[in-house]
Amino acid sequence: MLYNGEIFEGKHEPIITKKLFDSVQEVMMRKSKPHSKGLKPFLYRGFFRCGECGCFITTETQKGHNYLRCTKRKNPCSQKYTREEIITSEIQKEIKKVSLPDDWAKWMIAENAKDRQSEVQSSTLFADNTKAEISLLDSKIEKLMTAYLESALSLEEYRDAKSALVVSKQFLKEKLSAFEQKANNRFELTEKFLKFNVELANEEVNGEKIRLLQKVGSNFEIKDRTVLFEPRGAWKTLLDSGFGGGNALVSRLRRDPISASKNDFQFWRCVLDKVRMHFEQNPDESY
Ligand SMILES: [Zn+2]
Repeated sequence: MLYNGEIFEGKHEPIITKKLFDSVQEVMMRKSKPHSKGLKPFLYRGFFRCGECGCFITTETQKGHNYLRCTKRKNPCSQKYTREEIITSEIQKEIKKVSLPDDWAKWMIAENAKDRQSEVQSSTLFADNTKAEISLLDSKIEKLMTAYLESALSLEEYRDAKSALVVSKQFLKEKLSAFEQKANNRFELTEKFLKFNVELANEEVNGEKIRLLQKVGSNFEIKDRTVLFEPRGAWKTLLDSGFGGGNALVSRLRRDPISASKNDFQFWRCVLDKVRMHFEQNPDESY
């Protein structure tokens, strides 16, 4: 026991034996260190399937290096081991293919913000007009009530005319709220997506990034030491819009964004429009 900074031998019987104490310590040490042998958190654990036979790819350590290999549980398979580093550089290559050049991504984010601003102005106009129509219907309903109370209308006439006005009013209200929802969503989702794209391209490959890749695509496979996957959602839209990260135009713009021509701006403008259209049609997809 520790007393005044000095260790004294306790006189009483220990509450637990030294052996029990040691084994408890050992268990606690093991719990606080999940990275110990046998529980190694491999970067690509459970991430890939084999492109040849469809079995899961497993990682194992041999002479200090991590290797990925097909488990070959189902059928014979001719795929060989691949070093983890090779797969990581393959992943980097794939990310580059789906990611926007930095300068253009920033340009698109700025354009999106500008569009949003002008959309806000025209949507304010639309909203104001719709609200004016709604209050016009309200005053018509009121006039109808007055006419009925002054016996200028029968109850039946009053009811028919009123229900027609109420239906129109409901329709306008729904139109207004759907419009407001849509206007907000697609700009916001587009901005989030563009920022996510930049973030993904700029950081090194780690566990967190591998997790994020699940949003980019599905069916990640390794075949002949190459990584394959199917892009999904907005990433698919991005690739389908003629933007193949590897093509000559994009490579040139990546190297030298300053020499951009009018055509280049039109190209990226078009990509931006397609991405935003995607989010207009898929308002539940978020990054
Ligand atoms: Zn296989």
